[in-house]
Amino acid sequence: MNQRYIVFLLLISCSVTFSCKKKSDSNWLNFIPIGEEIELIEELASMTNPCRDAENYIPDPDHPKHTSYKRVKVNFHIIRNAEGKGNLSEKVGRKYVQEVLISANEGLSENSKMRLPAGNDTEVLSARYKYELWPTSYIPNDDGIYFHNDDEHYFNINRGKKKNIFKRDVYEKYGIQKDSVLNVFVQDVHLDSIASKSFTARANGVAFSTWVKVALWHEALRDTVYQNGKAVVPGKYNPPKLLNHEIGHVFGLAHAWGRDNCEDTPEHPNCWALTGVPPCHEISNNIMDYNAHMSALTPCQIGRVHKSILTNPIKRALVIKDWCKLNPYKNFNIKEEITWNSCKTVQGNIIIENGGRLVIRCKTSMPNGSEIVVHPQGELVLQGAHLYNDCDGQWNGIKVLSEGKVSGKVSYIGKATVIEHSKNNIQLEKEPEIKS
Ligand SMILES: [Zn+2]
Repeated sequence: MNQRYIVFLLLISCSVTFSCKKKSDSNWLNFIPIGEEIELIEELASMTNPCRDAENYIPDPDHPKHTSYKRVKVNFHIIRNAEGKGNLSEKVGRKYVQEVLISANEGLSENSKMRLPAGNDTEVLSARYKYELWPTSYIPNDDGIYFHNDDEHYFNINRGKKKNIFKRDVYEKYGIQKDSVLNVFVQDVHLDSIASKSFTARANGVAFSTWVKVALWHEALRDTVYQNGKAVVPGKYNPPKLLNHEIGHVFGLAHAWGRDNCEDTPEHPNCWALTGVPPCHEISNNIMDYNAHMSALTPCQIGRVHKSILTNPIKRALVIKDWCKLNPYKNFNIKEEITWNSCKTVQGNIIIENGGRLVIRCKTSMPNGSEIVVHPQGELVLQGAHLYNDCDGQWNGIKVLSEGKVSGKVSYIGKATVIEHSKNNIQLEKEPEIKS
C-alpha cells in the first residue's frame, strides 16, 4: 500500500466514523457575567456620558452605515389669498415642491467642502438624512402637498409693525399629522407689497420645534435676473437651501457664524456674497449661515442632527420608524474592534464574527425577532448599554456560538446596563456588595 493511499483511507474513515471538526454549538444566552477588563473600566470612569456627546453621533467614515439613515417625513402647505392668488398655482406648486425636495436632498447627500476657515481640512461627510413627502391615509389621493386659500394667512411679513413671521396661527389652523410629520408652510408676499416699488422679494423662513415657515418662494422665483437670456441669479435654487437651513434649526442647529457648539464652524461676519474687500473677502458656504451658497454641513453639525433625532422623542417622531421590522439586508457584521458610543436604531441582526469585538455603551433598539450572534472568537461587551425593542414587540436575544471548548464571549461593565424585551430572558450577574 503506498503512502498516499493510506492518507486517503484515513481521511475517509475520519469523515465517516467521527467528525474531524471540533463540535460546534449555539446557545441562547441567559446569564451575563461582570467583565473584568480594567482598561475599559478606567476608560468609562474617565468619560462623561458618551451618549449625550453630539460628537459621538458623527457618522464614522470607515463605517458610515453604523449611523442609521434617517428619513424625515414632511408635508407642504401652500397658502394663497381667498381668490387663489398670491402664491404658487396647484400645477406649478406640486411640481416645484417635488423639485425643491430633490434638490434639498441632493444638497444633503452630496454636501460641499467648507470654505471657512481658509485652508481647512474639515472632512466632507454625507449627511445621512433626507426628506420624504408623507401623505395621510385618510385624505383621498393625498400626496402630502396641500393648498389653502386664506386672506389672513397667505402672506409673510418679516419686519415692521405688521410682522407676522413668528406667529403660529397658520400651523394651528392647517397643520396635518402634527405629531409625526414636519409641516412646511409656504407663504408669500402680501399682494399690496408687490405694488410698492421699493419692495424686493427675497426668500426667507423661520423654524419652530417641529415645523417651519418658508416664504416668498413664488416671488423669489419670479425674481430671477436674466442677462442675455440666461438666468444669472437663479432664484429657484434658493428655496431648497433655505429649506435645509430651517430644517437644520428644527434638529438643533444654530446659526454657524456665531457660537454654535461646533468647533468646525468658525465665527465670521456672515457676508452674503464676496465683495473682494474685508470682511467679505472670504465667505462661508455653510447651510446654517446666510450666504449665496449654503451647501456645506460640517461633521459636528451632522452629528448634532443625528443626536437630536435619536435622543429627543419629539424629533424622533418626525422620522420614518424603520427600526421595527427585521431587515436582514441591514445586518451588522462586526469583524474588527468597534465601540458604539451613541444611541442606535438597529434594523437588522448584529453578528459579531471571529476576531470581532463590539462594545455597546448607549440605548440600542433591536427590531422585532432580531438577534445578536457572537461567534466562537467574537466578543460582546455591554458597558452601560441599554438593549431594548422600541416597537412594543420582542427581539430574540443573544446567541453564543461555540466550537469545541471555545465560545463567544459576552460580559457587562457598568451599573446602567439594561436588557429588555428579549424573548430569551437574560440575567446580569449581581455585582458583589462592597462592605464598608
Ligand atoms: Zn436661521
